[in-house]
Amino acid sequence: MQQSELIPERYRDVAQHIAEAVRKMDRVIIAAHANPDGDALGAVAAVGYMLRALGKEAFIYVTPRVPLNLSFIPLPGPIVTTLVHFPFEPRCAIFLDCSESHRLGPELSNLMSALESVNIDHHLGSEGMGSMANWVEPQGAATTQLVAYIALALGLSLKEDLATAVALGLVTDTGGFRYSNTSQEVLHLTAHLVANGCNLAALRAQLDNSWSLSRMRLWGELMCRAEMRRNNTVAFCPIFLSDLRSTGAHKEDLEGFVEQLRQLHGVKVAAVLREDAPGCCKFSLRSSGTVDVCAAATLLGGGGHRNASGGTVRMTMEDAEANLLSAIEQELANEGL
Ligand code: 5GP
Ligand code: MN
Repeated sequence: MQQSELIPERYRDVAQHIAEAVRKMDRVIIAAHANPDGDALGAVAAVGYMLRALGKEAFIYVTPRVPLNLSFIPLPGPIVTTLVHFPFEPRCAIFLDCSESHRLGPELSNLMSALESVNIDHHLGSEGMGSMANWVEPQGAATTQLVAYIALALGLSLKEDLATAVALGLVTDTGGFRYSNTSQEVLHLTAHLVANGCNLAALRAQLDNSWSLSRMRLWGELMCRAEMRRNNTVAFCPIFLSDLRSTGAHKEDLEGFVEQLRQLHGVKVAAVLREDAPGCCKFSLRSSGTVDVCAAATLLGGGGHRNASGGTVRMTMEDAEANLLSAIEQELANEGL
């Protein structure tokens, strides 16, 4: 089979179009949303390896830093965490997995109008963010899935560190191939990565078996605190700055916690509210089936996908909790639940 046959037919033209735009780029900043998750970090890494294979000058910008739980992933340097100084003067940018420009962080969102850019994302909302080309594909399970198709359109092989980076995004954004976005196309692409030597079990073990005792203690406290609301259909847990301080855990140690709440029997929506600073809270919502938590998040200025969404609100924890639960109630009522 030709490698390019791995690209689903309906994506071939757009993958080729983005590949041609990428060929024209040089001196590139590669960036995803701040506080990157597995898909965002996988996508910047995969694009870094892709540009390296094309002989382009590029650097990766990660803000505020590479999360500790993902620090085992090989990254193609240079990696910078601030844009106060550049490894070289950038001319272009590739934005990844970032539905809103402000989520790139203030340093890059202030600079982006000066850069020729390509935007690749699987969230709706960023359709015009790239000045040269955009591929916004909400049917894509992960941004790394789209990046893989672009690499194939460029004639590159998906192996070694590039394959691992793609797999990281696929594994994390499909919840380990459990969510409804685990399409035949995702499995087909993953099978190709495995055939090329990608070790999924090793990747899984590195993702899973890396807990600090602080993280375990934090989750223990939060599980005791979780509450059922609205007739046991909503699971809710507030997380305060003092929880991180008292356990010695970090923000990224909360990654995956909201999914635990969704496991409670009868729960339609799981919600966590995290105090990031006094008067500034981040919320994360998860649902199963048809309940659209993206609609609820949008009411509060956030966004995401039908079953996984989030956002930030400038309110006290108390006000944020009231607003969040009322947005969830509204969505559940819309669904007749
Ligand atoms: P998480 O709850 O894991 O931070 O985010 C879940 C999903 O919600 C992300 O994949 C992203 O699609 C979306 N999301 C999270 N925070 C924001 C935000 O501030 N704005 C928007 N538009 N989407 C967000
Ligand atoms: Mn993603």
